[in-house]
Amino acid sequence: MSADPNCIFCKIVAGQIPSKKVYEDDDVFAFHDIHPWAPVHVLIVPKRHIASMAEVTEAEAGLLGKMTTLGPRLMKELGVTNGFRHVINTGPDGGQEVYHLHLHVMGGPRPWLKG
Ligand code: 5GP
Ligand code: ZN
Repeated sequence: MSADPNCIFCKIVAGQIPSKKVYEDDDVFAFHDIHPWAPVHVLIVPKRHIASMAEVTEAEAGLLGKMTTLGPRLMKELGVTNGFRHVINTGPDGGQEVYHLHLHVMGGPRPWLKG
């Protein structure tokens, strides 16, 4: 599926819902989380609608590699110099709230880190 008309992140990718974009190419889109858990909190999403990591196959290995390696680059560009976290929540027990695959990349001074 390329876009889900009911999906909030598909709408962000399409520019139908505003976001603070930090990066875009043919495959991925990155923007600041609206309720940051850290001083710098970016979400990296595939442009194509994939509901979660539970739907991912080996065909998406390159896409996931691109998403994960983009994280460090964006943290550097955003001035994060002392480390960061990558998080992907999957499914109800994984704490996933938005069912369009997204990688959280969080950095900045450490007191925010809870668990
Ligand atoms: P999840 O729990 O699914 O891993 O995380 C979803 C994340 O999406 C949350 O951190 C939440 O703050 C973020 N989010 C939800 N709706 C929006 C939105 O409309 N805009 C932005 N920028 N972030 C959103
Ligand atoms: Zn979507």
